[in-house]
Amino acid sequence: MTTVETVLFDLDDTLVRYQRSPGEILSVAFDSVGVEPLFPVESYYDRFDEFAEQTNSIDELRSACFESLAVERGYERQLGQEVAAAFSEERDQTNVELLPQAESVLDNFYEQYTLGIVTNGSPDSQQTKIEATGLDRWIDTVVFAGYETPTKPAPEPFERALAALAVRPESAVHIGDSADTDIHGAHNAGLDSVWLTADHSTDSPATYTIGSLAELLSPPWKQ
Ligand SMILES: [Mg+2]
Repeated sequence: MTTVETVLFDLDDTLVRYQRSPGEILSVAFDSVGVEPLFPVESYYDRFDEFAEQTNSIDELRSACFESLAVERGYERQLGQEVAAAFSEERDQTNVELLPQAESVLDNFYEQYTLGIVTNGSPDSQQTKIEATGLDRWIDTVVFAGYETPTKPAPEPFERALAALAVRPESAVHIGDSADTDIHGAHNAGLDSVWLTADHSTDSPATYTIGSLAELLSPPWKQ
């Protein structure tokens, strides 16, 4: 068994979460444009990474994404853009908080490991969240996948983080809440993975599975 030297984290819903969910903001945006819901919030999540690859900021991403979602459902292109603009108006990227126990886990890990973040998202939105929650005091490197590299689950964003920290994949683990992007991505790059999930109904695709960050106070790779 190799010793873990480096721990990488996903950002959204692994270390931080919005105090107002995208679903709440989307419904405010439909209201302020004065339309019935044009598409469900899940369709925005489903298409997020695809548009992250094609755009350079979160506002551009939403505009392109909402435009497509509207057009595909038979609405005017313009309507999608108006909803995206209203969403951007409402969304405050500083309105985020650390998940419960994130602070004690990071304090604890900071003494023992080098730490990085590998996130699918634009530098403008993601860096704002990192600064608003003070994550930069623990984290040595951040990779904005979809901008600097292809999005997770491609191996490149993980490889970029490991290169910045000068560590081999066998000495690193990646922790995230998405089986599709975090767990498969980590494995594609040769890292072990920790899946943060409330879902214990399916067979876990990850090396380790945890139900809350608190479980990291006694890390699964040390058991
Ligand atoms: Mg996530």
